[in-house]
Amino acid sequence: MSPEPHVPLTVLQRGTPFADRHIGPRADDLDRMLATIGVGSLDELADRALPATIRDGSGVAASSSLPAPVSEAEMLAELRALAARNTVAVPMIGLGYAGTQTPPVIRRHVLENPAWYTAYTPYQPEISQGRLEALLTFQTTVSDLTGLPVAGASLLDEATAAAEAMTLLRRAGKSTSPRFVVDADTLPQTLEVLRTRAEPLGIELDVADLGAGLPDGEFFGLLVSYPGASGAVTGPAGLIEAAHERGALVAVAADLLALTLLTPPGELGADAAVGTTQRFGVPLGFGGPHAGYLSVQQKLARQLPGRLVGLTRDADGNPALRLALQTREQHIRREKATSNICTAQVLLAVVAACYAVYHGPDGLRAIARRVHRMAAVLAGGLRSGGVEIVHEAFFDTVTARVPGRADAVVTAAHDAGIALRRVSCDVVGIACSELTTIAHLEAVWAAFGVAVGSVDDLDAATADALPEALRRESEYLTHPVFHSHRSETSLMRWLRRLADADLALDRTMIPLGSCTMKLNATAEMEPITWPAFADLHPFVPAADAAGTLEMIADLERWLAELTGYAAVSLQPNAGSQGELSGLLAIAAYHRSRGEAHRDVCLIPASAHGTNAASAVMAGMRVVVVATAPSGDVDLDDLRAKIAEHADRLAALMITYPSTHGVYEEHVRDVCDAVHAAGGQVYVDGANLNALVGLARPGAFGGDVSHLNLHKTFCIPHGGGGPGVGPVAVAEHLAPFLPGRGVVGAVSAAPYGSPGVLPISWAYIRMMGLPGLRRATLTAVAAANYVARRLGEHYPVLYTGPGGYVAHECILDLRRITKETGVTVDDVAKRLADYGLHAPTMSFPVAGTLMVEPTESEDLAELDRFVEAMIGIRGEIDRVAAGEWPVEDNPLRGAPHTAACLADKWDHPYTRELAAYPTGVTPGVHDRKVWPPVRRIDGAHGDRNLVCSCPPVAAYGS
Ligand SMILES: *Cc1c(COP(=O)(O)O)cnc(C)c1O
Repeated sequence: MSPEPHVPLTVLQRGTPFADRHIGPRADDLDRMLATIGVGSLDELADRALPATIRDGSGVAASSSLPAPVSEAEMLAELRALAARNTVAVPMIGLGYAGTQTPPVIRRHVLENPAWYTAYTPYQPEISQGRLEALLTFQTTVSDLTGLPVAGASLLDEATAAAEAMTLLRRAGKSTSPRFVVDADTLPQTLEVLRTRAEPLGIELDVADLGAGLPDGEFFGLLVSYPGASGAVTGPAGLIEAAHERGALVAVAADLLALTLLTPPGELGADAAVGTTQRFGVPLGFGGPHAGYLSVQQKLARQLPGRLVGLTRDADGNPALRLALQTREQHIRREKATSNICTAQVLLAVVAACYAVYHGPDGLRAIARRVHRMAAVLAGGLRSGGVEIVHEAFFDTVTARVPGRADAVVTAAHDAGIALRRVSCDVVGIACSELTTIAHLEAVWAAFGVAVGSVDDLDAATADALPEALRRESEYLTHPVFHSHRSETSLMRWLRRLADADLALDRTMIPLGSCTMKLNATAEMEPITWPAFADLHPFVPAADAAGTLEMIADLERWLAELTGYAAVSLQPNAGSQGELSGLLAIAAYHRSRGEAHRDVCLIPASAHGTNAASAVMAGMRVVVVATAPSGDVDLDDLRAKIAEHADRLAALMITYPSTHGVYEEHVRDVCDAVHAAGGQVYVDGANLNALVGLARPGAFGGDVSHLNLHKTFCIPHGGGGPGVGPVAVAEHLAPFLPGRGVVGAVSAAPYGSPGVLPISWAYIRMMGLPGLRRATLTAVAAANYVARRLGEHYPVLYTGPGGYVAHECILDLRRITKETGVTVDDVAKRLADYGLHAPTMSFPVAGTLMVEPTESEDLAELDRFVEAMIGIRGEIDRVAAGEWPVEDNPLRGAPHTAACLADKWDHPYTRELAAYPTGVTPGVHDRKVWPPVRRIDGAHGDRNLVCSCPPVAAYGS
C-alpha cells in the first residue's frame, strides 16, 4: 500500500466548507443537471443566462471587502465573541418591552424546532392545519383578553399595529375629518411610527393630554393607552363614550398581561385594541421580532388588515381551518389595498399562543398579580423613602420624581445590573415583569438611596394600585385548549401533533416561487436564543449592546457591498416595510429638491401586490405599465407612460429579475429612461437570490432596493414571519433612510427585528463571496433543470434570451385547464398526496404555478418533485382521455386523508392510487405523509365567519 501524498497541515481543511452543506447538489449531480440544461459549467450558465449589461464587469469579487468564509465552528466562535461584548442588564425600562421567561418546552419545541420555523405562510391550508390551529389559539387569546370578538393572526409590532388601527378607523368611520387624536401618554416609538404613516396620507395627528378630556373640534379617531407609557392606569370608558358621541371611532393600546386584571377595552366600548404580545414568552431580542396584535368589534371584521384564520369545513364536511376572507390579504388588491402587510410574525404569535396555553388563565393571572404586587411594593418602598410617585394607579410601571437626580439613579441602578428608564432629568420609570425579584426591588431602592427595613412588613402594609372600578370581572381563555396542556408532557405532545399536520422544509422541498424557501442552517439558528442576544432590551445604553451593534454594522456593510448601494437600514421588519421606507426616501428626496409634486409611481402589471400598496401608503399615485408578450416590461408602454407623466414622475418600481422569473435584457435602458425624466428607480430585491455575487442592483441602475432577509439571507419563514426587509440606497438617498431625521421610524424598535439578524450574519460569514456566488448559480441551475425536465409536460411561460430562466420558472396550466378542466388547484392539492408542497399558485399570472427550487435542494429531491409533476401530468391525460370524469378523479379528489380511504369508496379510481400515486409505493416510499383534512371549502367559512377557537362540539360533529 502506497502512503497517502503529504498535504501540509496548514493546507488540510478542518471539516467541510459550509457552502457544501448549504448547497444541495453534489458535484456529480450538478454535472448531470448542467448536462440536462446543456451547459458545461456554472460559469457558462452565468454567461448564457445573465445579460452582459447587468454583469458587474470585473465582478463583485474584485471590489469586495467581504471576509473570506469560515467554518461553522469558527463562525460560532466569532459570534460568541460579539455576544460576549453585550451586557445584559435586568430589563426594567418598560416602554412596551417586558422581561419574560420563554418556557424551555416552548423554546425548544417551537422556536428552535424546524418543523415550526421552516414552514411557509399557510396558503395551502390542507397541509398547514397545525400552524393554523396555533394561530387560531393566538387569535382567541387576543380576542378573549381584549374583550373584542375578532383578532387577526398577528401584525408586525405594536407601533405598526397602531398605524394600521389608525387607517382602519379612518376608512370604517363616518367622519370626514382628517384628524386623529392620540393620547400624549402613548409609547414614544408608537407616536413616531404614527407620524411617519399619517403624513403621506394627509392624516393630521393631534397628540393631546387626555387628562383634561378630549380636545375641541372634529376628529375621525382616537388612540388611548391603557396603561399609558408612564404606567398610569386610567379608565378610558368616558373618553370612548365622548369620542363616539362626536362621531369618532376609538382604538385602545393595551397590555395583554394587564388585561388579565383590568376590564378589557371591548367591555369599555372600544372599537379596536392594539398592542404587542412580546411579554407572552417572546424574547426581547433587542427589539424584535415580536407579534403585534389588532382586535376589533364584529362590524369591523372585514376591515382588518393582515391575515385572519377562520374555521370552515373540508370536502367531507369535517371542520378545517384556513385563512379567512382572503381579500383581507390586502396587498393582493394592489393600489386599492388599505395595508401593505404581507409577511407578519407567525412564529412569534405561535410562541405567544403557546405561552397562554401553557399557563392558562389562572397562570397568567398569577403572573400578572405577582408583577403588580412587585410594582406596588416597589412604589411603597420608594414612598417610604420620601420619593414622589407620580401616579396613584398603575399596573407594572412606576414613575418616580427625583428632581435633578434621574441620571444618578439610573447610573447607580445600571451599576447594580438593572436597566431603568430615564424619562427626563427629574423622572425615572421602573417597570416590573415576570422576571422581577425582591432582590431587584432592593437594588432599585438602593439606587434611589432608599433604605427599606422589612420587605415583608412593607408588603403587608402596601395596598394594590389598580382602580377598583376597573377590576376585571369577565372570564377569559375558557376554551379547553387553555386548560388541557399544563403538564409539559401534554404540551410537548400537543405541539408535536400540530407540527405533524404541517409540511415544512424538514419534510419536503417547498418550491414556492418568489419566496426562496432555502436552508435555514442550524448553525445560523443557534445564536438567536443565546441570552446575550435574546435578552437585550431595545432601549439599553449603546454600550450594553456593543456586540449586537457591531454585528448590525457588519451586516449593513456586507449587504451594501452585495447590492452595490451606499447605505443600508435594517429597521424595516418585512419586505413591505422596506418598500414603504424606500418610497418615503424617494418622496423626501424629491421634496428636498423642491419637487414635491413628483408623486407618480410606475409599476409593471406583473409586480407583487405590496409594491402598489406601499406606493399608495407613501402618498403616491400608481400608474400601471403593461407587460409585453415576452413577459418583459413593455418598453413602448413604459416610454409612453414616462412621457405622459414626466414632470410628475416620482419613481418606477421594478422587480429584478422580474416576477416572471427572467433576467430582462433591457433593465439598464429602463433605468436610464426613468432617470432621464427625473424619476428614481426602485428595484424590488425580493428576487436577489438570482443576483448575489453576479450583479448588483445599485450598479445597474437602481437608486433604492429592499431585500428580504427571510428569502435570500436564510431567516426562516416561520410559517409567515418573522421577516426583515432592509432598505438599501444610493448615496443621494442615504439622508432619507428611516429614523435618520428626515423620514421617521417605520418600525417600533430602532433596528427592527435584530433578534434574528445573527442568522443572516452567520450565512454571509460562512459562505463568503465565492459561496454566495455558487449558491446563486446553483439556484439558477436548479430552476433551469426543473424547467428543462418539465417543459415537455407543462409549457414554461417565459424564458429569457437563449431560452433560460432565472432562479424560478412559471409552468403554464391555462391551456391544460381549458382543455381538461383540471385546475392549478387540483395539481397543488394532488402534490400533497405525494407529500410535496405546492409551488406558488396563480402569482404573478392566474392559472399558473411558479416553481423556485433554490440551491439548497439536492438532485434527488428535485427529481422527486419532477417525477411527481410528471405523474400528475399522466393523470391529467387520463382525465383528458375521458377515463375519469373531470369532477371525480384523483386530482379533484385530492388531497386524500386516511379517513376518506377507510370510508365507503365509490370513485372510478382505486384507493391505492389515491394514497400512493404513481411512483409512491407503499412500504418502499415510507415518506408517505397523510394530509389531515381534505380539500377545503373556503367560501363556506367566509359566509359563517368563526375566527376564534370554536366550542369543542363544533369539532366533534
Ligand atoms: C415577498 C415579496 C414581497 C413582500 O415581502 P414581505 O417580506 O412579505 O413583506 C415584495 N415583492 C416581492 C417580489 C416578493 O416576492
